[in-house]
Amino acid sequence: MHEAALCQCLVDIIRDQQRQRGFRQVRTVYVEVGVLGHVEPQALAFAFEVAALDSPAAGATLRIEEIAGRAWCTDCAEHVTVERRGDPCPVCGGFGMIVEQGEELRLKELEVV
Ligand SMILES: [Zn+2]
Repeated sequence: MHEAALCQCLVDIIRDQQRQRGFRQVRTVYVEVGVLGHVEPQALAFAFEVAALDSPAAGATLRIEEIAGRAWCTDCAEHVTVERRGDPCPVCGGFGMIVEQGEELRLKELEVV
């Protein structure tokens, strides 16, 4: 499962952060998820719960913020907002879209104790 691998990465980052910052426990994890990525927020929350077991983030709440997609259209050379992967350019209707933002999963902030 795609989400499980992503969450394993998140937990690895959290362990690194713990080594650097020396907190005991993570209470809330804030992540940004691009709407064009192949991440299902519900599946992500569940996978995180499992991946975080036996880590400083065990029992932490995962707060997911969805980030809009941005793409550059090769047909009309406009930078546009895209709602969904595979949508045509809202300006010219073309499909020559190069995604610039919206596929990422990023750890934004940790609330720790
Ligand atoms: Zn276009």
